[in-house]
Amino acid sequence: MTPDTVTAGNSPIEAAKTVENLTGVGWAFDASGRWIYLSPALQAALGKTPDELNAWWSEGEVAWKQLLYPDDYERVAGEWRHSIHSGQPFDSEFRIRRRAGYGWVRSSGRAVRDGTGDILGWYGTSIDIDSFRATVDTLHDRELELSQLVDTVPGHLWRLTPEGEPIFFNRRMIDYLGRNVADIESPGLSRLDAMIEMAIHPDDAAEFGSTLNQSLVTGESFFMRYRLRRFDGVYRWMSSRAESMRDRDGRIVQWYGLCHDVNDQVRTEEALKRSEWHLQRLIDALPVNICSWTPEGALSYVSKRFLEQAGLTKTDFAEFAKAALDLIHPDDVEQVRDQAIRCIRSGEAFSMKYRRRGKDGLFRWTDDRFEPLRDADDAIVEWYGLSIDVDDEMRTQQSLRDSEHSLHQLVETLPALIYCLAPDGAPIYRSHKLSEYLGFEIEDKDEIGKHRLDVTLDAIIHPDELAAVKHKYSQSLPTGEPYAMRHRLRRFDGEYRWMETRALAMRNADGDIVQWNGVCIDIDDWLRAQEELRVAQRNLAKASEAASLAELTASIAHEIGQPLAAMVSSSDACQQWLSGDPPNVERAQKALERVVRSANTATEVVGRIRALFKHTPEARRTQALDAVAVEARDLMAEEATRRGVRMECRIEQDLPPLFFDPIQIQQVFVNLIRNALEAMDLAADRGMLQLSVRRDSKRVYTEISDTGPGVEDPEQIFEPFYTTKGQGMGMGLAICRSIVEAHGGRLWVERNDPTGAKFIFDLPVEGQEA
Ligand code: ADP
Repeated sequence: MTPDTVTAGNSPIEAAKTVENLTGVGWAFDASGRWIYLSPALQAALGKTPDELNAWWSEGEVAWKQLLYPDDYERVAGEWRHSIHSGQPFDSEFRIRRRAGYGWVRSSGRAVRDGTGDILGWYGTSIDIDSFRATVDTLHDRELELSQLVDTVPGHLWRLTPEGEPIFFNRRMIDYLGRNVADIESPGLSRLDAMIEMAIHPDDAAEFGSTLNQSLVTGESFFMRYRLRRFDGVYRWMSSRAESMRDRDGRIVQWYGLCHDVNDQVRTEEALKRSEWHLQRLIDALPVNICSWTPEGALSYVSKRFLEQAGLTKTDFAEFAKAALDLIHPDDVEQVRDQAIRCIRSGEAFSMKYRRRGKDGLFRWTDDRFEPLRDADDAIVEWYGLSIDVDDEMRTQQSLRDSEHSLHQLVETLPALIYCLAPDGAPIYRSHKLSEYLGFEIEDKDEIGKHRLDVTLDAIIHPDELAAVKHKYSQSLPTGEPYAMRHRLRRFDGEYRWMETRALAMRNADGDIVQWNGVCIDIDDWLRAQEELRVAQRNLAKASEAASLAELTASIAHEIGQPLAAMVSSSDACQQWLSGDPPNVERAQKALERVVRSANTATEVVGRIRALFKHTPEARRTQALDAVAVEARDLMAEEATRRGVRMECRIEQDLPPLFFDPIQIQQVFVNLIRNALEAMDLAADRGMLQLSVRRDSKRVYTEISDTGPGVEDPEQIFEPFYTTKGQGMGMGLAICRSIVEAHGGRLWVERNDPTGAKFIFDLPVEGQEA
C-alpha cells in the first residue's frame, strides 16, 4: 500500500526506494515533475537514465513523454498535470516503450510534503500489467461479440431468475416490446406477472403462466406457442423455448429463453388448415365418392360419403381396401379387375360403369373414373378417383331403351307404312316396312342441289298424282295444316298401289313444328272392292230401273188397255147401230156415250200416271243451295279421281236461300256430274270438271261444264229415252228438266269453251218464283 503523502523528513527519493523495496520498481520526481530517481531495474527495462529522460523534459510536460504510446499521451498528461497542481494521487494505466517494445503498465504516484504541507516531490511505482490488459481486452472483445450476437440473433432472447423474474431482454425483444425489462412493472404484481399481463395475448396468458410455472418447478424445458404483443399493439405468434442453466451442484441459476416470430408460419398453417377444412367439407358435400390409391395400388384415401355408402366407418378405412372388390357385382368384378390392372400397368385413365353393393345390400350402377397424378419426371405419384352413382340414370336409360324398342316394334307391326319428315319436308325416318315397300333407303335418292322431298316424291308418286301431292305438301308444310291425300305409290317392283296418306305436324312447347309424322295405308284392295261394289250396285240399279219401268209399262198398258178395249167395242157397236136400217140413233148415242166414258177413263189413267211423275212439293223447304252442291261434289269426288278427272268447285259467298226439295235437286246435280264424267271418258286428255254456283238478283245459276265431246243437238238430248250410250236409258236429262221446271226453273245446255258441254239450270230466289 502506498501512503497518500509522505511527511517531512522523508525525501521523494527515499520514499521511492522504500517502494522499490516492496515492489521492485520505484521512481521519484521533484515538485515540478522532473526526474530525480529511477530504480535500476526500470532503467534497465526502459534503456534510459533519469538524466537522459530529463534532457527531453520541459516544464508542464510529462517526464516520460518520449516513452509514452502517442495515443495515450493526452489522457495521461491531463491526469499528471492535475495531480501536480492539486497534489492528488496519480493513478493511471498506459502503454510505455520498453526495450522489448510497448507494454501496459499501471503507475501510481504520491506527493511528498514538508512539515508545512508544501509538496517536496513525487514518488511512486509502476507494475507491468501487459498480460492482464491482454486478458481484459480479450474478455472485453468476447463480451462485445457475445452481446452483438445476442442482439443480432434473429429471435428474442430473454433471461429469467430461477424464480422466473425476467432480468434481460435482447435488443430485438426490447425493440419488439417497445420497452426494456426494467420498464416492465405493474403495481402489486411480480415482474413476470406484469410481463404476462402486458405482453401475452389474453387468450394465451393463462396457459403461458401455468406452463412456465410448471417448468420453473420441475426444471423441465419450457415450450409454447403464444401471441406476443408488439409495441404498436399488434399480436404476433411466437414460438418460445426456455432451458435452465445449472451450477456445479445442479442448482438452477438462470433460465434462458429464445422465442422467434412464427406468425407467418402460423397464418399459413391456419390458411392451410382452413383450406383443408373447406376441401374436406367440399368433398363430403359433393354427391360423389372420392378416393385415392398409391401407385402400388394401396388405398390412401376414401371420402366419408364413400365409406358411409359402403356401410363402413372411418375406423374401417383399411377394411375398405379389402372390401372394395367384394362390393362389386359378381358379374362385373372380373372386368373391373382386368381394367384396373391394365390401367395401373399402363398409366392410362380408368373409366368404367359397373354395379356396386351399398350398405343396404342392393347393387347400384356406378360410374368410376381414375386418373393418375404425375410428378415432373412423369412418374405416377397417386391415383385419384371419382365414383358417381348413375343408377337412376342407367335405369332411366334402360327404360328409355325398352320403351324405344317397344315403340319400334309398334311402328314396325302397325299395318301401315310410317314415315317422318323434317319441318321442311325432308324425309328423316322411314319404317322398315316402308323401306321394304319402296325398295330403297332415305338417302339413296339424295341429289346435290335438290330437295330430298322432291326427289323422293318424284321417285315414288304416280305421275298422275305427283303434281297434286306436291301441291298439297306445299300447302301443309308452311302452315301446319294436316296433310291428307289419296295417290298411287310405286312399289320396289314398279307396280303402283293406291294409298291413303295422312301426316300431322308435331310441335314443341312453343308451338313450332319440329317434325311431320305420317302414315300410308294401302287401300288398293279396298278401292278395287269398292269399285266392284259400285259396278254391281249400278248394274242392280239399272236392272231395277228397267224392271220398274217394265212393270210401270205393263200396268199402264193394263190400265189404259181396258178403257181402250171398251172404246173399241163401243165404237164397233155405235158403228153397227148407225149402219142399221134404219140406224138406231138412240143406241148409237148410248154406245158413243160409252166411248166418251172410256176415253175419259183412259185420260184419267194418263192423268194419274202424270201425277205420279209430277213431283209433289211437300218435301221442299227453304235452304241454301251451296250445301247441296258441296255434298253432291263430295259424293262424286271418288268417281272423278278414279276416272282421272279433276274437279273444280266455285261457289259464290252469301247465296240467298232457295225453296227446294234437296233430294231432287241433289239428284239433278249428281246426274249432270255423272253425265259430264262419262262424256270425258271419251276424250283423249285428262278431263276437268267445273262446278260453279252464282246468282243475280232473281235467280241462282248452277253451271256444270266438262271437256268432253260436247252436244250436237241441244234439245234432243232432253227427250225421254234418248241415249247414245250402250247401257243408257235416256231418262236422266228428261227427269232433271222436269224436276227443275217443277221448281220454277229452267235447264239447258250450251257449248263449253274451247270444248265440251255446259249444262246450266237456274232456280228462283225465294219470293221471286216465276
Ligand atoms: P243417258 O245418260 O242414260 O244416256 P241422259 O238423258 O242422261 O241419258 O242423256 C241423254 C244423252 O245426252 C246421252 O246419251 C248423251 O248422248 C247426251 N249427253 C248427256 N250429257 C252429255 C254431256 N255432258 N256431253 C255430251 N253429251 C251428253
